[in-house]
Amino acid sequence: VQSHTSPECMMAALLLRRDKKSTAAHLKSDLNRTDNSSGVRQLQELLDSVLNPEKPPADTEALDWCKCLIAGEEGFEEFCKTVRSYDNATLCGLVWTANFVAYRCRTCGISPCMSLCAECFNNGDHTGHDFNMFRSQAGGACDCGDSNVMRETGFCRRHRLRTGENVPSVPRDLLLMSEMVLPRFIICIIQYLRDGYTEPDTSAERDLQKVLQQLEPQITFLEELTKMGGAMRTVLTKILTNQQTFKDLSMGQEENVFAKKNYENYLSALKNSGLVSVEEKAQTGAAEPTQGSETGALGLLDPSIMDSLKHKCFLEELLFWTIKYEFPQKMVTFLLNMLPDQDYKITFTKTFVQHYAFIMKTLMKSQESDTMSNRIVHISVQLFSNEDLARHVTEECQLLDIMVTVLLYMMESCLIKSELQDEENSRHVVVNCSEALLKNNTYWPLVSDFINILSHQSVAKKFLEDHSLLMLWMSFVSFFQGMNLNKRELSEHVEFESQTYYAAFAAELEACAQPMWGLLTHCKVKETQEYTKTVVRYCLETLQIWFDAIGFVDELAPNQVTFHLPLHRYYAMFLSKAVKCQGLDLESLLPDQEMLMRIMVHPLQIQASLSEIHSNMWVRNGLQIKGQAMTYVQSHFCNSMIDPDIFLLQVCASRLDPDYFISSVFERFKVVDLLTMASVHQNTALDGEQERPMLEGALTFLVILSSLRIHLGMADDEILRAEMVSQLCMNDRTHSSLLDLIPENPNPKSGIVPGSCSFEEMLSAVADFKAPVFELGGSMQQGMYTPKAEVWEKEFDPIMVILRTVYRRDVQSAMDRYSAFLKQSGMHTTGNPWPPYKERTPLHPCYKGLDRLLHCKTLHIVIFTLLYKIWLDHSNMSEHVLCMVLYLIELGLDNQVEEDKGDEVRPSEHCHDSWFPGTNLLSNLHHVINYVRVRVPETAPEVKREREPPASTSAEASNFGQNVREAQVFSLVAERRRKFQEIINRSSTEASQAVRPKSSSTRWVPPGTPPQLVTEILEIHESMLSLLIKLHQKLSAKQNSLSATWLEDMDANPNRHAHGDGITAIERILTKAATRSHQSKRSIQEICGKVFPPVAPKKNSPTAKKTMDKEERRQRARERQQKLLAEFASRQKSFMETAMDVESPDTEAAMDLGASEVKESEVLYDCVICGQSGPSTEDRPTGLVVLLQASSVLGHRCKSDEAKKLPTTDEERIYPADTCGAAHDVRLALMQSFFKDSSCLQSVSIGWDGGVYVQTCGHTLHIDCHKSYMESLRNDQVMQGFSVDKGEFTCPLCRQFANSVLPCRPGRSTEVVSWHMPSNKKTSVLVKEVEDLQEQLGFFPVSTTTESNLSKEMELVIKDIKNTTQRKYMDYGKNPGSPDNDFLFMYSVARTNLELELVHRGGNLCSGGASGAAKRSCLNQLFHVLAMHMRLYSIDSAYNPWTRLTQVPCVVPYSCLDDERPEVPMLFRDCPSLLIIFVLTMPQPLRKEHFICLVRMLYNLQYTQALAALSAKFSPEERQAWSTSGTLKKFSLFFYMINCPFNTICALLLCFLSQLSSSVWSPQSIEYSLQQFCLPYLRLSCLLQHHLYGDNLSGCPEEEEFSGLAGCLGLLDPAPQPSNPMYSASCLDWTVSAFDLMSQWCSEVTGLADTQTLLVQDLQWASPHLLHLPDNYNTIFQYYHKKACTACKKVPKDPALCLVCGTFVCLKGLCCKQHGICECVWHSQHCGAATGIFLLINASVIIIIRGHRFCLWGSVYLDAHGEEDRDLRRGKPLFLCVERYRVLEQQWVSHTFDHINKRWGPHYNGL
Ligand SMILES: [Zn+2]
Ligand SMILES: [Zn+2]
Ligand SMILES: [Zn+2]
Ligand SMILES: [Zn+2]
Ligand SMILES: [Zn+2]
Ligand SMILES: [Zn+2]
Ligand SMILES: [Zn+2]
Ligand SMILES: [Zn+2]
Repeated sequence: VQSHTSPECMMAALLLRRDKKSTAAHLKSDLNRTDNSSGVRQLQELLDSVLNPEKPPADTEALDWCKCLIAGEEGFEEFCKTVRSYDNATLCGLVWTANFVAYRCRTCGISPCMSLCAECFNNGDHTGHDFNMFRSQAGGACDCGDSNVMRETGFCRRHRLRTGENVPSVPRDLLLMSEMVLPRFIICIIQYLRDGYTEPDTSAERDLQKVLQQLEPQITFLEELTKMGGAMRTVLTKILTNQQTFKDLSMGQEENVFAKKNYENYLSALKNSGLVSVEEKAQTGAAEPTQGSETGALGLLDPSIMDSLKHKCFLEELLFWTIKYEFPQKMVTFLLNMLPDQDYKITFTKTFVQHYAFIMKTLMKSQESDTMSNRIVHISVQLFSNEDLARHVTEECQLLDIMVTVLLYMMESCLIKSELQDEENSRHVVVNCSEALLKNNTYWPLVSDFINILSHQSVAKKFLEDHSLLMLWMSFVSFFQGMNLNKRELSEHVEFESQTYYAAFAAELEACAQPMWGLLTHCKVKETQEYTKTVVRYCLETLQIWFDAIGFVDELAPNQVTFHLPLHRYYAMFLSKAVKCQGLDLESLLPDQEMLMRIMVHPLQIQASLSEIHSNMWVRNGLQIKGQAMTYVQSHFCNSMIDPDIFLLQVCASRLDPDYFISSVFERFKVVDLLTMASVHQNTALDGEQERPMLEGALTFLVILSSLRIHLGMADDEILRAEMVSQLCMNDRTHSSLLDLIPENPNPKSGIVPGSCSFEEMLSAVADFKAPVFELGGSMQQGMYTPKAEVWEKEFDPIMVILRTVYRRDVQSAMDRYSAFLKQSGMHTTGNPWPPYKERTPLHPCYKGLDRLLHCKTLHIVIFTLLYKIWLDHSNMSEHVLCMVLYLIELGLDNQVEEDKGDEVRPSEHCHDSWFPGTNLLSNLHHVINYVRVRVPETAPEVKREREPPASTSAEASNFGQNVREAQVFSLVAERRRKFQEIINRSSTEASQAVRPKSSSTRWVPPGTPPQLVTEILEIHESMLSLLIKLHQKLSAKQNSLSATWLEDMDANPNRHAHGDGITAIERILTKAATRSHQSKRSIQEICGKVFPPVAPKKNSPTAKKTMDKEERRQRARERQQKLLAEFASRQKSFMETAMDVESPDTEAAMDLGASEVKESEVLYDCVICGQSGPSTEDRPTGLVVLLQASSVLGHRCKSDEAKKLPTTDEERIYPADTCGAAHDVRLALMQSFFKDSSCLQSVSIGWDGGVYVQTCGHTLHIDCHKSYMESLRNDQVMQGFSVDKGEFTCPLCRQFANSVLPCRPGRSTEVVSWHMPSNKKTSVLVKEVEDLQEQLGFFPVSTTTESNLSKEMELVIKDIKNTTQRKYMDYGKNPGSPDNDFLFMYSVARTNLELELVHRGGNLCSGGASGAAKRSCLNQLFHVLAMHMRLYSIDSAYNPWTRLTQVPCVVPYSCLDDERPEVPMLFRDCPSLLIIFVLTMPQPLRKEHFICLVRMLYNLQYTQALAALSAKFSPEERQAWSTSGTLKKFSLFFYMINCPFNTICALLLCFLSQLSSSVWSPQSIEYSLQQFCLPYLRLSCLLQHHLYGDNLSGCPEEEEFSGLAGCLGLLDPAPQPSNPMYSASCLDWTVSAFDLMSQWCSEVTGLADTQTLLVQDLQWASPHLLHLPDNYNTIFQYYHKKACTACKKVPKDPALCLVCGTFVCLKGLCCKQHGICECVWHSQHCGAATGIFLLINASVIIIIRGHRFCLWGSVYLDAHGEEDRDLRRGKPLFLCVERYRVLEQQWVSHTFDHINKRWGPHYNGL
């Protein structure tokens, strides 16, 4: 370590330090005296010189002095500790900044803003509470211990203990120096702040940042002080709030010019702190008498709020500068850290309120308003969440007045003239939504503070009692009334789509609706009636002002709509609450009829516009208008927008004349012209294609209006239930999406509202939970809720669904699901059902008038007309129209109105009176209409008919005249206008009001009738009932579909009618009519009894047939398509199943059949590209579609079968040394240090860590076809997820991912037989034959002579295999790139694939051939390709291991040169590797007898190795015991040993192997461990035999695996005697003297170092596992989210964990990037040979990296509702889903990530 300071300097510094210390001690003792004047003087002098604000703040000398002075003789650290021991705080108060992870518990919270630090949360008891974890956005502070904000039950252990009571009081002299020094220190900071400040418009804001940076150490020091706890905070509070100190120090000393100058600076900054600048004030002051109204609402305000600030203490000025400097983080933290001091908290809150207007003014000017907003709220939420404090400042500091004033002030800065209604003369002003203030939501801190304080009952009461405040508030709300006006574009598409609408919706919701909901929560009981009355009064007043200002009388300006009517909505919601909760009489809150008529116009216009927008009448306004229509009904807005609007319209409908209301509706929807009985009509307002949707819209609206009960009588529970049911009916929902979709008001989603049902209870009542499952094909399902069957049956409400749908398709989806339910339950099986009719909750008595809508002649005429038109198939009628008409009829039948005699007696003067006698629907139903007069164009068919002159007889003529008189014209428009006139007249005479503007009355005259219309009379002779019956016939396509007696049959089962189609609906209506009225019943029977001449339907039959046919054809086409799709899906699925190795016995059998056929004849392959079938030939080879991937799965296996545990504390660690990969590396390295390199490379296998795994989907193709396929892919630009350049493609048939083609060996039907011939040759003969064959190595039959296409392709695939893995996994030898390396790599590929297959089979072969893993194997083909490649190498016969395996050499093979190392002794060689080497290097095809011979000879070696390894484990004593043969005699094992000259070998082995071991061995345990040692070799041999010769694998119990395998390989008699225990030695088969051979082998290892390690091998590995994860995600999150990366020592922004090895990495971090590769990708290459499985800590999601691609896999952690919580947004507790994790592990082990996961993308090394 090198010191940078010279010794002299150090000494000086030390001296200076000691000097400070002693000075401090000396001063302190002086000050402690009774006469301390000299001490005080000395201190002041010292401070004068030290704390000089003219010195740059970066010079920390002053700071050091302060620290020393306040600490006294002890060091500062020591001092801190001492002071902290007097901490009496009972609150936690920990302050945090953005991104901190904190908790919120709704069960414990009193204020919704309550939050806890992780420590306090974990130390408290919140089991079963409604809590969540969240990432702080604005920063916050821990509320633990503050009973104002949270319930004491939630306090943590520490803060529940009220530590304050046990703390001793502070000794007087401890903080004496602090009290004297700190005031000076603080004024010094203030002077720096004053000096550094310049008005932002005069200089760059960067200067402010610079000042702050320089002050950093000083402010940090202040912050440190606050952390000393309560004692120091008390001192600081005294200093900060003392007025005298401030007075004394603020001005600075008289003679100090510097101080004076910056005091001036301060004063000028103060001057502009008011809302109204000094100059403005002078102006308005002068102008006030004359132009008072022009200054707007602000004129009403308390001027003191607008004034400049005056300061009386340090705290005030400090806050002032904090604001001016736009809330520097450190200052904010300091101010907040002080809050646990109660005195401070009160003073600070007052100061904050005093500066409130100034804060908002600064915010509006700020360039960084987002950051500043967060900091403001960070502070304000701490102050205003506390009810006592909020009430206190409301009472003493006019907080409410200030807030409302500032809100008005803010909004006034962006007002524009409203263009609604009267563009020129409007006096109304609205906010401009394109202003930054609204677009950026700058007002939110203010609004959120306001909402926060209104949540306190005491504060809200103050607000509601203060009339002038209410008036101000209403004028504030009216700034939003009519904002963001839309004007329908009629000719051209808008040039650019304005995006202001979102600002408008957000503003109405946040600034108007939220405060409204806040106020409403305090108006819930009778006692608060007065509040509601006042609000309603001011609402109406303000509405009246608004109508006047925009110049609205009764006609709307055309083609305009605004979605923003907050005044209407305030009025509506207060009305609703008044009736529902406060028992107020609705009548007393309603205005006169005229006002009601006006009030209804704008909400109704919105409803009509919604319909217009969906009918594409607003297309030219762009997509944004649809956005508005959707937002208006969307779950976060609907409570505050569409629901109040509908309610208000219901109120109006219940009070206004129903005929007037109904005609208004149709007029507003522009469908009046359509409502004629004539077959042709003109429509001036709509295009032809818009008529149908608009008519449907109007009728649907009427149905909603008359059936919706949300504010008309439903209890909160019922509403919640209905909302839930409608959302669930649209789609199955996850818990969180359902929570999001249920509107917040009136039911808060969480927590239990007294007297109402909780969300969870309700959910379990209406829905079933579908647990998350993993679907085939890889999509991960979440836990879902689906409606219970009885909900579909009884509660599905299509009207509620329509009301709540944002996307139109959701209505269809609900209907499809409903019809699926009916089909499944057998309730309705033919055709498509109609939306079910649902009975409604009775209306609250106040709203009874609403039912009159259903009982008015106008509606009945419309219904009659529409029924008639539908029957006659007039244009633009639809099933939906009929459905809605029927719905209206049924509603009318179910909601009867008591006949109001008074009304009925009124002289009939209405033109429609002749249609129906009364208003009751029930009696009008059977009323027959005979003639109707219509106005039609001259070209209409009716006209032609009438052209023929009427009959000349006088009787007929008079009859006709009669008809004319009876027939009536009906005009909706005329009707409405007449009505309006009548009401206006009445009210104006009654109330003798001021004269209405007469000019408008001229507009009420109906417009001139188009001249080309003529009046015609239609003969009808129908009643609604008869039309219904005719429609029934039409729908059922049967004449006389209803017999005369059907009514009697009907009554049997009334429930039958609940579900069904249109026919059912009509029957239901007829039944209801019949049961409720005798006359109707008689009428129905009469009509049904009549045999209808088939005239009417026939006349229309062509068209009817056409439409029916069309419908039917469409239906059939749909069904056909669905069937096709289903077939296709099932086909796809079966592909997937076979590809995914799903166990399915059927396919298994088929495969086996195929396999046996293959043996009989030449193998034929189907090409999946050209479809031809044929053999694979040298010229035109066929290949298997394969995926080559590097794998490290084998290398990650461990000894133990238990997965390693993911560390979650610092103590836990994972050691990688015991993995298979590491063990093999160590062994090879050890061998290489003793033996010849080339020999080492033949004695082991590699590929554990970067081996190449070959997989196929089983499909084959011509290799030339594949080439052209790849060419076509290359040209296809849309290929995503894989790169053609790297040879990647998807199988043309099954779409499985692949990257190479493995050529198939040409057919071999003739050889097959000889291959399998049982051999009777003696082993010695076979050994010789093998030796001879190996001699041929050099001259391979196919070699170099001709280069066929096949051999070329084979070399290509070898290249592909090599390119699949990294260089370092191929070069294990000392000479990189040498043939030895290549040789090792090649045979290891075979080994890797065999070993992986074993793993997939569960680690053994006990399940025989039944495992699915073999189905898709391509090992046979792979072996062939490898063998073709290996022929390039030859093994020098001198080193041929075969000789050493089968012969006792005459000469010791240590003939090597001195400079060369010896060859690897046989006992160290790996038998499976040798077997593979032999098989691959011998001439192909290899006969089975030779293969068996190889296996036998190698078994001898394997067994000897087993013995050697075993004896190496013996203790010397044991070795001794075993080698003295006498003791062995009683064991049967011994006899085997006698038979083979084993004992001597054993003795031999034991002699030179020395090792200590205390284990005690028995013959059984010896046999067991020998078998275990040999088993891996047997398994591999057996598997190889299975693949090369197609032998079936026979299963066996696990304990008999050894004998089973030995039998399979022919090492044993095929029929082993079950009675005798099996001995491994019986498989030995020597061709030479076993003793000699073994002695030879043993002698090779004698005297070598490390023999021990190399002999005792671990050959058995447990199956591979991912790390074991804890159950609770929090365990992982808490440890890792703040853990530092081991590489860069920083806490990563996106931490991730490798689930294979537990390595902690920085995802995407630049910090850990090397060679342009980020850490995750880098790790995936080194840990997983390019496959990586990472858990993203902050997202709880798993990401998979595979080569150059990656995908999000999903999460293995789910919440209590079976849902993922990506990015931890909801922060609910998450638990390990074991099934999902198993699936993940299985995909890793089976290398199927590429196939199962679909959404891959390139990562560009950036993860
Ligand atoms: Zn805490
Ligand atoms: Zn606590
Ligand atoms: Zn709790
Ligand atoms: Zn082909
Ligand atoms: Zn395929
Ligand atoms: Zn790893
Ligand atoms: Zn890192
Ligand atoms: Zn890093």
